[in-house]
Amino acid sequence: MIAKALKSRYHPIVAHLIPVRRCNLSCAYCNEYDDRSKPVPMAVVQHRVELLAALGTSAVTLSGGEPLLHPQLDEIVRCIRRHGMLAELITNGYLLTPKLIRKLNRAGLDHLQISIDNVLPDEVSKKSLKVLDRKLRWLAEYAEFDVNINSVLGSAIRNPEDALTIARRARELGFDSTVGLIHDGSGQLRKLDPPQAAVFSAISNLPKPFHTSALYTRFYENLAQGRPNDWHCRAGSRYLYICEDGLVHYCSQQRGHPGISLEEYTRENLEHEYHTVKPCALYCSIPCVQRVAMVDEFRERPREALARFFPVHVHGHQTSSDLPTAIRVLTWLFLPRNQDSWRSRLTSTFRRAALLCLRVR
Ligand code: SF4
Ligand code: SF4
Repeated sequence: MIAKALKSRYHPIVAHLIPVRRCNLSCAYCNEYDDRSKPVPMAVVQHRVELLAALGTSAVTLSGGEPLLHPQLDEIVRCIRRHGMLAELITNGYLLTPKLIRKLNRAGLDHLQISIDNVLPDEVSKKSLKVLDRKLRWLAEYAEFDVNINSVLGSAIRNPEDALTIARRARELGFDSTVGLIHDGSGQLRKLDPPQAAVFSAISNLPKPFHTSALYTRFYENLAQGRPNDWHCRAGSRYLYICEDGLVHYCSQQRGHPGISLEEYTRENLEHEYHTVKPCALYCSIPCVQRVAMVDEFRERPREALARFFPVHVHGHQTSSDLPTAIRVLTWLFLPRNQDSWRSRLTSTFRRAALLCLRVR
C-alpha cells in the first residue's frame, strides 16, 4: 500500500465506506450514527467497492454507525479482498462473537479497530473495558487479523486515566493501541486540560510501532498542547469518505464537501482535491487522514519528512541518528546522500526490485 502510494499520487490510499448508518449505541459525543436506517443493500455496497477499486484505492475501512449490524459484513470484506484491496473494520465490538471472528478470518479481514472510551460505562459512553474485555479475550484467542484498541482523550471523557488502563490492557493481550483526541462536530480539536495532557504524555511514552509514534510526533504532540499543525489535508483525493448514500465527502466531520456521487468521481476530482487547501486543517484531529498525509509528505520531501516524524533534539539541533533501524536501512537503500552515478544506479535497481517484489505496477 505504502509503496504504491509513494509511486503514484492520484489514487486513494484509504477509503472509508459506510455499510450502515445505524448504531446499537448512542455515545454522547458522536454525530456519525442514527437509530433507524437500514443496511445498504449488498449489491449496492458491492458496486461501490468496484468503483473504489477502479479508482485505484489501496485499502477500504468499514465503519458506521456500527458496521457489524450489516448482515452480510463478511461478504463485503470478501468482496474488498477479491478486488485486491486491504479490508479494515472499525467497530464498537459489542456484537463480536467467536463465530463472527472466525467468519471475518475466513473472509480475509486484514485489520480491526475497537474504540474503547472508559473503564466503566457512564452516561457519555458504553464502550467500556468492563463490558468489552470478554470480546478482547475472544479476539486474542481467535482473530487471525491485526487488532488495534483505540482509546480517546478529550472533554467528554470523565476519567482521562482510563485511556492509560485501556492502552495497557491492549498490550497485555498482544494488540496495538492508539489514543485519539476527541474532536468537535467539524473535526476540530478541543484542547486537553492538564490531567488529560499528563495521560497523553504517559501513553505517548509506551512502546509502539514506528508509524504510530511518527503520527504522535508529527500531529498529536502539537494538538495536545493546543497548537495548530502545518500540513496539507489530502481528503477527497488520498482519503475518501463514502456515506451510506454513496456520496464522496472529505471526512466524517466535513460531510457535504465535495458531496459528489462516487459514480461520478473521477481522476480529475482526485487531482483537484489533492491540491485543495482545507481551511479546517490547522486544528484537525482526524488521524486516518493525517496518516495518509504523512505518506505524501514523505513522497514529496523524504528527508525533511523523516526529520519531522523522528526529530532528535541535541543542543537545539535536529539529527537523524535516532531513526528506527528499519527506517535507517530503508533510507540507506532508497535515499542515499551520495548521488554519484554508481549509487544512483544501485538505488534505482533497489527501487525496481522492491516494486516488483511488492507487485506494484
Ligand atoms: S459506537 Fe461509534 S458510531 Fe456508535 S454512537 Fe458510539 S461513537 Fe458513534
Ligand atoms: S482537515 Fe481534512 S480531515 Fe480534517 S476536518 Fe478538514 S477535511 Fe476533514
